[in-house]
Formats: sequence, C-alpha cells, structure tokens
Amino acid sequence: MAAAVSLAERGVQVTVLESAAVPGGRARRVESQGHALDNGQHILIGAYRALYELMRTVGVAVNAVLRLPLEVRYAGRFHLRRGAFGLAGALLTARGMPLAERLGAARFVARLRRTRLRLATDMSVSELLAQEGQGARIAHYLWHPLCVSALNTPPQLASANVFLAVLRDTLGAGAAASDLVLPRVDLSRLFPEPAADFVRAHGGELRLQSPVKDLGALRQSYDQVIIAVAPHQLKTLIADAPEYSYQPIYTCYLQYADSVRLPFPMLGLADGLVQWVFDRGTLLGEQGRLACVISAQGDQQQMALEEIAERCHRELATALGGLGRPQWWRVIAEKRATITCSPGPKPLPSAIPGVQFAGDYTDPDYPPTLEAAVRSGVRAASSILEPAR
Ligand SMILES: Cc1cc2nc3c(=O)[nH]c(=O)nc-3n(C[C@H](O)[C@H](O)[C@H](O)COP(=O)(O)OP(=O)(O)OC[C@H]3O[C@@H](n4cnc5c(N)ncnc54)[C@H](O)[C@@H]3O)c2cc1C
Repeated sequence: MAAAVSLAERGVQVTVLESAAVPGGRARRVESQGHALDNGQHILIGAYRALYELMRTVGVAVNAVLRLPLEVRYAGRFHLRRGAFGLAGALLTARGMPLAERLGAARFVARLRRTRLRLATDMSVSELLAQEGQGARIAHYLWHPLCVSALNTPPQLASANVFLAVLRDTLGAGAAASDLVLPRVDLSRLFPEPAADFVRAHGGELRLQSPVKDLGALRQSYDQVIIAVAPHQLKTLIADAPEYSYQPIYTCYLQYADSVRLPFPMLGLADGLVQWVFDRGTLLGEQGRLACVISAQGDQQQMALEEIAERCHRELATALGGLGRPQWWRVIAEKRATITCSPGPKPLPSAIPGVQFAGDYTDPDYPPTLEAAVRSGVRAASSILEPAR
C-alpha cells in the first residue's frame, strides 16, 4: 500500500491485487467469534518517519495514535522514563537498577551517539552487550526486551548491527524519535484502508480477494510489477525464492470486567511468558480488554492455546492483582510473524526485469517492521518513477 500511495500521488495509475478480504497483511483487523481484534498488538516508535509521512499523505487523523514519551515500566519493578535530561538522564535516574549498571548503560548510549557505532563484522546482540560490559539486570530489563521488541529475535540470535541501527534511530536521536506510539484504531484503519481510499481517489484500484497466481501473465498485462508479499509467500510466485528462518509473535487477548485498567497503557512483565501487556480500553475504547504480547521463539510454541491464555491470566493476576476471571480469551499465533533478524546480509530474491520487490524483509539496515515495509514500498515506487540510468 505504501508503494501504491507513492505512485498514485505522482499520477501513476495503480492496481493493487490483494489475496485477503481485508487489507493490511501482517498488520490487519481480524474478526474472531464476533470480536473485532488485530492479528497482533503492534507498537510503533517515534522514529518511524516514512510511515507517519504516508499516514499524513492519506489523511489519517493525528489522534489515530497515542504518542507518549519513552517510558519503560515493569509492574512493580524497573521504571525508566525519558524526561528533560534525555536518555542519559533517564538511565541515570531509572528506578530498580544498581547504579553501576545504569552508569554502564549511559556510557554505552553516549558512545553510540559519539561514534555512530557500526561493527565491521556483525555479531549477535548478546556478544555486543558482553563486549560493552552491560550488566545482567540492565540486559534483562532494558536491552533484551528492546532487542526482542524491535527485532523479534532473541539476543543470542539477533544482529548487533541491526540492533545498533535501531538504537541510533531511537535512543541516540532527538527525544521524539524514542516516543512510544500506540494505535488507537484497528490496524487496517491505521493505514491500509485510508491508503486504499487515497489510491481510488487518484484513479487507481484495490482488488481484494484477488490472489496473483501467475507472475508471467501479470507482467504481460502491466508495465511494471511490485511484488510485496510476505517472505514465506514468495515461493508461490517465483522459482528461486530465498529460504528464510522465521520468528513467531503471539498475542493473547483477555477480556475482563469493564472496570479493569492498567496503570499505564503499556506495561512490561519481564519474568514469565508475557513480555508486554497493553490496555485496549484506554487505547481503543475496548473496556476491560488486555492484550498480552509474546514475541520471538520460546516455550509458547510448545503450549496449547488454552494453556497460553491461562498462563497469561495468571501472570497478569500476580503482577496486577484484582482482575477476576476473564470472560473470554483469544490467542492469535502468528508463526511466521517476521524473518529471524540474524547477523550478516539478508538474502534477497534474484532480480527480474520490470519487477521490484518490496516488503519488511528487504530492508538492508532496518529490522522487519511496519517502518521497513513502508520504506521498501516507497523505494520500489521511486525505482519505477526514477529508474537508475
Ligand atoms: C503479530 C505481529 C506483531 C507485530 N508487531 C509489530 C510491531 O509492534 N511493530 C512493528 O513495526 N511491526 C510489527 N510487526 C511486523 C509488521 O507487521 C510487518 O513487518 C509488516 O506488516 C510487514 O508488511 P509487508 O507489507 O512487508 O508484508 P505483509 O503485511 O505480510 O503483506 C503482504 C500482503 O501480500 C498479500 N499476498 C500474499 N500473497 C499474495 C498473492 N499471491 N497475491 C496477492 N496478494 C498476496 C497478503 O495477503 C498480504 O496482505 C508485527 C507482525 C506480526 C505478525
């Protein structure tokens, strides 16, 4: 949709062929037994510049997201808040962390700022943190959750260079770049549906439930083609699709009594299955509904969905107290949520004349996120509008 908007804006007539009934792909609204949910709770950060620019272009209202200064809160434990003295100040004044570890983290961030740190030879995030002398508690409460949230890959498997790129873009940049940005509308309304309206208003079209089965036939009907499918869907369209390894993301929705609220829209839980819990009542007006996020590989992959829901409920009840029993639950398991963001260059599909590839897995520097997907769409559109001479 990012590619389609970028082209339609420049007067190109585009046709978007989407196999699903709802636009949005891995960030979309789903209907589950009468409840409108998202396929997974998403969080955006202030540094997602390309996404916000296109959201503005297609007229998404500013209040479709809630912007909060960076605040990492764990129920009853570590608490870090970016205030007037920037990130270094936030690290130094964080609660629930020994001073030596806070100082070590502040030095690491300062070095990152000064040197624009990039490793000549990529390594894992765990190796980087050990090399930078980061203590066990700051790793557990800050660096590991940041790595898993941003790269959807456990620190021992994750690329240090991609992690550093995210840190530079967020913690090492101006205050607004590290803002937490939480959707206040469902994910299809956040961008893909307004984008589709924009494309139609500019003479293009979006055809839902229209899977492309034959790339050859498509190339005969259109001047240019952009393949923007998820990486595991490439093999249905091209013969030599690269092999990727994938990481899951599970979202467990628990519906409690309307009066149930979190003290903050997003809380961390660092010692069990649940990593983050979001208050869908405060965010989307879905009163009493909490969304638990479990990113990257882990024990949940061996558990029944009911068992996951029960564990999430128990962990929330222990951390927050006074929840009562949930009225209903849903666990949405996205088993191939993103590719594993491992060290070294990512394999890409071989070039095909007249065909561009877009998608979160194609960005050379950024982790597989909404921002990477949007950047890649804008890039594919530019290659069509301004082909390299
Ligand atoms: C549960 C979950 C949580 C996530 N959380 C976050 C988060 O908090 N923050 C963040 O930034 N990112 C998050 N992500 C990642 C983010 O959602 C993805 O990076 C992004 O949506 C990828 O967009 P894409 O356009 O590259 O691919 P997709 O969204 O996968 O889009 C591909 C589209 O191609 C369509 N398609 C496939 N085959 C065909 C065909 N043959 N013909 C026509 N159409 C076809 C699909 O239906 C789909 O709509 C999360 C992902 C998941 C799954």
